[in-house]
Amino acid sequence: MGSNIVKTTCAYCGVGCGVSVQTNSVQTNSVQANSVHASQRDVIISGDQQHPANFGKLCSKGTSLAETLGLQGRLLYPQVQGKRTDWPTALSAVATGFQKIIDQHGPEAVAFYCSGQLLTEDYYVANKLMKGCIGSANIDTNSRLCMASAVVGHKRAFGADIVPGCYDDIEHAELVVLAGSNAAWCHPILFQRIRRAKELNSKLKVVVIDPRRTASCDIADLHLNIKPGSDINLFNGLFNHLFFHKKIDQAYIEDHTEGFELVIEESLATAPSVDHVANACGVSAHSIGIFYEWFSNTEKSLTMYSQGINQSSHGSDNVNSIINCHLATGRIGKPGMGPFSLTGQPNAMGGREVGGMANQLAAHMDFKDSHIDRVQRFWQTPTIARFAGLKAVELFDAIHEGRVKAVWIMGTNPVDSLPDANKIIKALQKAELVVVSDCIEQTDTNAYAHIKLPALGWGEKDGSVTNSERRISRQRRFLEAPGDAKADWWIISEVAKQLGFAKHFHYSCAKDIFCEHAALSGFENSAEFESRDFDISALASLSLKEYDTMQPVQWPVNTESPKGSARLFHAGGFYTPTGRAQFIPIATASEKKNQSDYFPLVLNTGRVRDHWHTMTRTGLSPTLSQHLAEPYAELHPDDAYKHGINDKDIVRLSTPWGSMLARALLSEGQQPGSVFVPMHWNNQFANDARVGALVNPIVDPLSGQPESKMTPVKVQCFPARWFGYLLTREELGVDFSPYCVKIKGEAYYRYELAGDVLEGSLAELAASLLGALKHSGEWLEYTDATAMRYRAANLNDKALHSCIFLSRDSQLPDTSWLASLFAEKSLTTEQRKGLLAARPQSGAANVGRIICSCFAVGENTIKQAIQSQGLKSVDAISQCLKAGSNCGSCVPDLRQLLD
Ligand code: SF4
Repeated sequence: MGSNIVKTTCAYCGVGCGVSVQTNSVQTNSVQANSVHASQRDVIISGDQQHPANFGKLCSKGTSLAETLGLQGRLLYPQVQGKRTDWPTALSAVATGFQKIIDQHGPEAVAFYCSGQLLTEDYYVANKLMKGCIGSANIDTNSRLCMASAVVGHKRAFGADIVPGCYDDIEHAELVVLAGSNAAWCHPILFQRIRRAKELNSKLKVVVIDPRRTASCDIADLHLNIKPGSDINLFNGLFNHLFFHKKIDQAYIEDHTEGFELVIEESLATAPSVDHVANACGVSAHSIGIFYEWFSNTEKSLTMYSQGINQSSHGSDNVNSIINCHLATGRIGKPGMGPFSLTGQPNAMGGREVGGMANQLAAHMDFKDSHIDRVQRFWQTPTIARFAGLKAVELFDAIHEGRVKAVWIMGTNPVDSLPDANKIIKALQKAELVVVSDCIEQTDTNAYAHIKLPALGWGEKDGSVTNSERRISRQRRFLEAPGDAKADWWIISEVAKQLGFAKHFHYSCAKDIFCEHAALSGFENSAEFESRDFDISALASLSLKEYDTMQPVQWPVNTESPKGSARLFHAGGFYTPTGRAQFIPIATASEKKNQSDYFPLVLNTGRVRDHWHTMTRTGLSPTLSQHLAEPYAELHPDDAYKHGINDKDIVRLSTPWGSMLARALLSEGQQPGSVFVPMHWNNQFANDARVGALVNPIVDPLSGQPESKMTPVKVQCFPARWFGYLLTREELGVDFSPYCVKIKGEAYYRYELAGDVLEGSLAELAASLLGALKHSGEWLEYTDATAMRYRAANLNDKALHSCIFLSRDSQLPDTSWLASLFAEKSLTTEQRKGLLAARPQSGAANVGRIICSCFAVGENTIKQAIQSQGLKSVDAISQCLKAGSNCGSCVPDLRQLLD
């Protein structure tokens, strides 16, 4: 059997890295009864050296993609009301269910909720079916949660939703401002590019604007830990500074913009001096002054911003306050400069292009008569939505209130990711019809589905995605479809046919859809009609072979720019009615004080380095599950002291909307008054850790994007009466103790446990916890009644099957040595003897928490090497232990250990 290289694109973030997959030339999955054997899915993943987003590099998530291709937990067959069925029955159930509700209540009573994980082709047909055939615009997407405010900012300023620059600007820049972006964890390959650019160019400075000291501060020359929500003060103040210090580009303002004076008026009124700004932002005037000086005097300034800017009740204004500064200095569309929105998901941009949002039409057109008529003439569909639909939060409110009665959720998990997430559960329970298309059988959302449709996953599906720099890349198939799983575009098209729209959905492959999408982008797109930004008409007549071999390209791709366009707007040419960019006056938001005596802290949510969204994929990877293994609440030590919390305690976080448990993580990098909690954990991986349930559902009034970073919260110590962990070869549920977190390891699962009730002894508790296990064989046990400890290990044919460690306090031995024993077919005598001490008798050190995922190097190993070998730099650690030498994602952690 030969091998084959397939070039595709990473499944995760908006950097859109090219991935090279080495497969066996024959890829099949043998399906017998309900089990599918996945051994043929072994592939070798590496970065695509030719892809312009990453030039061969991958971060820890991309590097570990192969670990997520197994078929464990996959949804492989359609299900109706929990029963396996065939496709004709399932498709008919979806179509009949939707039709009945449309007939009784009209098209506004149904909705689609999509995802930035869908491919452009999938999104296109979903949008066409809902807006062009059903006649409602109730199709929204989880991209609403990450970049809707950037879209509003772009459209207000540029007249179109355009990111004007490209990643190459990083290598040209002399000042990179990371605003509300922990790129080191959330866009790691771009962060590595900034790091390398800085190493090669001593002039390049990096400013990080973030209330937290994050891993991105590792390369920061200046960190402005501003108060949450004070970004507008900072950027309005910068605007004033540029004006008063005559650092504006008068020619650019006069030739290409409008509204400059209005902004001056507004920002002078609200941010008159550096001292004023410093006070509002809670940082020193000196630091603000340095930032303003650097920005003023550095033409090649690149402001990269992300969820810290967008996820705010004034996110759109945050974005425009940044864009105003770039327009005022003419720093846009030229090498090394510009405002740069970093998108969160692999295809958030593609979703925007096809109108996957409720307030947009396809090909970046809007709900205005000329656009509505144009799209309908192109589609030749019987109807078309004539007004915007419901945005994500409104949509689920409408389901809750019974106004929307049927929803089809595609590739996303709103029960965890939307704010006030417990209300989403109630909404789905009330809905008459909930359909999900997913590749995973059990998710928190799928639990409420009447119909489950098995979708293809990454590596099985074929289509295209667009990354943060407008670059369209192919995602290519390299695995056969498992079970009855189908492409999302196929599923949607088949339902469309059953709804009576067959002639509009005769696609034989993804390429047919891509070409139609490209043709629409060029339809009546010229000065004669109206020039529009999104134009990929040069790709409208690709042959199948050309589509298969299509190289990454940045739109616009048309007759003027057949090879794509790296940068836009350096010479104006905006898509506003006057062709001029618009300065948007932004009133400084008054300081928000939504905390109270009862909820005294501010909850900030975000991503960790090695997990992705609700962990349906990364949670399968033993490599990615080790770095930050448990849901945590990062608190400043002063706040922890005030609330009687110690490091590693289990704490309960409560807000007016919900509550959860997490492990306390004390950090000086956390701003006093704030708590950071990762967004990933859910009921599939932890008993009580859905942070979405706590988040305030307030949204930006313009973009509809939820404010996921400023919920009032209280944190209290969970009154644990016992702590413990269980390591076992068996996969169990996560509800056998109040605090229960499942962590995937190599050949084992680890369950971190704690409870607030202890009736009887720890041995009795262990017996009840172990009741769930299918254990047999030999048991080793140890009880220390004085120290209140209980430990037991179960061996089967001399191999370790399970071990449980319980204690009345949280002092438990490290698990890393125990975990390593699950790789052994048979334990040695010495290993047996060390079992209940959790370390070998020789006293060899546990490797500790995994820091470098690529080479599985633990914290203890690194600390020991630093001390014993006098290592003084990251390079020295890399040479000694390899840590940090591959993807580079752990470099900030290594530097912290050195510090
Ligand atoms: Fe994937 Fe990492 Fe690249 Fe993002 S930075 S696309 S997660 S490899």
